[in-house]
Amino acid sequence: MRVAVVGGGINGVMSAWALRGRGHDVALFERGALMGATSGASSKLLHGGLRYLEQGDVRQVYEGLHERRWWMQRAPELTRRVELFLPLYSHAPHGRLALAAGLTAYDLLSGRTTLGRHRWWSRQNLPTRASELKCDGLRGAFSYWDAQMDDSALGRWAADRACDDGVVIHENTDVTHIARDGELRTTHDALRFDVIVNVAGPWARALLDASEIPSHTQLDLVRGSHLIVNRPTEAGFALNLPSDGRLVFVLPHHGRTLLGTTEVRQTLDEPIVCSVAEREYLLDAYNNFFENPIRDTDIETTFAGVRPLVDTGKSAHAQRHGETIEVEGSVVSVFGGKWTTSRLLGERVADAVGKCTRRGTSRLN
Ligand SMILES: Cc1cc2nc3c(=O)[nH]c(=O)nc-3n(C[C@H](O)[C@H](O)[C@H](O)COP(=O)(O)OP(=O)(O)OC[C@H]3O[C@@H](n4cnc5c(N)ncnc54)[C@H](O)[C@@H]3O)c2cc1C
Repeated sequence: MRVAVVGGGINGVMSAWALRGRGHDVALFERGALMGATSGASSKLLHGGLRYLEQGDVRQVYEGLHERRWWMQRAPELTRRVELFLPLYSHAPHGRLALAAGLTAYDLLSGRTTLGRHRWWSRQNLPTRASELKCDGLRGAFSYWDAQMDDSALGRWAADRACDDGVVIHENTDVTHIARDGELRTTHDALRFDVIVNVAGPWARALLDASEIPSHTQLDLVRGSHLIVNRPTEAGFALNLPSDGRLVFVLPHHGRTLLGTTEVRQTLDEPIVCSVAEREYLLDAYNNFFENPIRDTDIETTFAGVRPLVDTGKSAHAQRHGETIEVEGSVVSVFGGKWTTSRLLGERVADAVGKCTRRGTSRLN
């Protein structure tokens, strides 16, 4: 079948690659540059997501941990293990037992793909790489292992593999309209495909609306911002903020420190940039935990992306991070999905396209 994929983020690229693997002729359309939106503005972690355990989303964590391994094996030069410290203070939202249970589950779920087991460090025995933590009220810290990647480079690596296999990629090509019968219009052409896969991330619902294709799925668009601070850090930290119970990451980043992220609801009309309030929130988060404070002038740059979360009517913090796939005629739309699990998402999209010859409307979770 001739399949068009709209969107050159990681989910579009991995869908196109999986579809090509099933023998389809695949053309991908991206209105800007590949990985130019959310997929190039992530926290750059390949992970199961410790906090999803708290939400009871064990499947999401299990899949993330196993997919982490897939990326590390395929592209070792663009991925690496990172040690993360989770400090425990007397005022912390979670006690030591709860954290130990969560980390044990994280270890067990990673099974043979583990990057190293978690351990507890008492305050007296903290290693020097965690010695910058404020001592007042500090009981100790857990350490655990996850992986880091270069999201833009790794996404382009996957796109290169997909092209090698025969996917045709059109960058700087805006898709203005799609139709249930497989017609796709760009600013220059009107083309015909057997199936159109709409993987436009935060813009997936907007493309359907502009094309007058009905959808049951609402997206909750939640901006996340990061700071890059001119200061090295050897280890990573997952800071459990007592103010709102969120996790903020402090991560090594090319000899600098990457600090993020935030959760701010926004619309597609607003610019996707880090606000002054988000800068202050992240600086405060860091300075609450570390002896040597960072100032606004230490910030080298900021970047922001929008999470396309499937709206379940919950708070931004508690929304689902898994994907929903919806089929309407010859149009398969994908909502949500994580960077780490994009290969699995691509396989599920290819399954949905396989079933697409049976015309109609359906929703697959
Ligand atoms: C702040 C933040 C931190 C994150 N951190 C992590 C993390 O550490 N690890 C992890 O696993 N996940 C993380 N995520 C989640 C992950 O980054 C996203 O789920 C994923 O990148 C979404 O990819 P996507 O391809 O669906 O969307 P996008 O990357 O946004 O791609 C969609 C593409 O579609 C294009 N497009 C839109 N409309 C059209 C059109 N009409 N015509 C042509 N092209 C169009 C856009 O230009 C865009 O490039 C994070 C997300 C955010 C926001």
